[in-house]
Amino acid sequence: MANGVTDWLWEAACACPAKTAFSDSSETVTYWELARQAASAAKKIRRMLDGEKRLPVGVLIGRNAASVTAFLAVAAAGCFYVPLDPSLPEKRLRDILGVVKPRLILDASGKVPAAVQGYAVAPLSELTGGEAEYPADAGIMDSDPLYCIFTSGSTGIPKGVLISHRSVINMARAFSTVLPIDESSVFGNQAPFDFDVSVKDIYLTLYHRARTVILEKSLFSIPKRLMEVLNRERVNTLVWSVSAMKILSALRTFRSAYPEHARLIMFSGEALPARILGEWQDVLPDAQYVNLYGPTEITCNCAYYRVNRRFADGEPIPVGKPFDNMNVFLLSPGGESPVTQPGEVGEICVTGAGLALGYYAEPEKTARAFVTNPLTKGWDERMYRTGDLAKYDADGNLVFVGRADSQVKYMGFRIELGEIETAAQSVPFVQSACCLFDERREELWLFYQADGQNDAALLAALREKLPSHMIPRRVRYFEILPQNRTGKPDRGLLRQTYLT
Ligand code: AMP
Repeated sequence: MANGVTDWLWEAACACPAKTAFSDSSETVTYWELARQAASAAKKIRRMLDGEKRLPVGVLIGRNAASVTAFLAVAAAGCFYVPLDPSLPEKRLRDILGVVKPRLILDASGKVPAAVQGYAVAPLSELTGGEAEYPADAGIMDSDPLYCIFTSGSTGIPKGVLISHRSVINMARAFSTVLPIDESSVFGNQAPFDFDVSVKDIYLTLYHRARTVILEKSLFSIPKRLMEVLNRERVNTLVWSVSAMKILSALRTFRSAYPEHARLIMFSGEALPARILGEWQDVLPDAQYVNLYGPTEITCNCAYYRVNRRFADGEPIPVGKPFDNMNVFLLSPGGESPVTQPGEVGEICVTGAGLALGYYAEPEKTARAFVTNPLTKGWDERMYRTGDLAKYDADGNLVFVGRADSQVKYMGFRIELGEIETAAQSVPFVQSACCLFDERREELWLFYQADGQNDAALLAALREKLPSHMIPRRVRYFEILPQNRTGKPDRGLLRQTYLT
């Protein structure tokens, strides 16, 4: 029984030392090397933090195996890692660092952004040399935090979801009891390491002593090269975001090539249109397709649906049933009564071993989202309210219906529209702002009221605060924004006038 995910690494290093664990476009690392590097870096991290454990350590990430080494080194030091994308706008990185206040940041990217000035930054490559000492980790408990991944926050500051070793161990076990993953699995990692989709690539690989090929981002705009890499590396397992699945079909990739070895294709993050699933099924009819559902707060996924047929255009693909050791059920939206009748809509609520420890250093936000299960009498059972609406189909599968709030998914990214509004309203000449998402055209709209029209200045200011996927495609100026009876921007009217 593992207490920490690093146990899997030390065991794999002994069981299959020469096997490749992770590779990227320029480096390949075996299990032995990964363990040696992680263990020797862990020793130095411990020294740099005066032996203190359970502290946040930032990791400047790239699309590389070094990022994984850094994560495992931090874990082995008894601390938890916070993946930091160095290409984020300075303001956003500063916001994240302002919440986390790390005493140490490891650089696995080779790009040190201005936002980390004033923090202690150590290049990972300077820590990984020398022989490792075993046992290499610092007495980890499974309830200790392993990582903190930041997601969009409606109040303008991203929220850091803090996940324990126990939750990741639970995820790896739960996936492995129902899905065909083993030591012959070769994962094609698509998701960036600051996204929880990538958590599955990393830890299912370690758990099974499998192999992950880290795919360069640019490959997803050159499908021919992407297919060459997938086929050369004999990638057989995909854990991809729905947006990546969509990109390949939009680029008409399959006319010339397809991932010949793919046998297990898992997708998540938003609803995959049946038409796109059908295009994948046409070229890879024997592959097992799995719809995975869940927010970062419950550790990757809490429900899954094994696709066992073709779906008609427009027919929703269910998100299915709970994974082992997780309870997923519906409550009346915002209320406390269970929803059990097929077709009746409720809010998806989750209990069980995957629940996050909370939002790091955000007790109020944590208390709002992680509440007591109203259905459990006699003790306090923690429950996460997802804000997602769903219903049961006739077979008892959950079917995703939509969101109860203004969180949207755009290009695979989770975005709180409120975060864009807050950023716009912080621009000095803007008085009020309202953001809407056009699902059909997949476009973000920003409506703003200001002293005068200056779309270019507003967009320039937003680019300094928000990542590129949060910059609205369409901007409309108003002398006075239309308001509803409560004095708030009239979202319904704006949607009806501009988005339909
Ligand atoms: P994230 O925390 O970035 O993984 O985003 C989680 C949110 O993405 C969920 O709360 C849902 O709104 C949405 N989501 C995740 N998986 C699915 C799925 N399979 N089908 C529909 N929506 C999904």
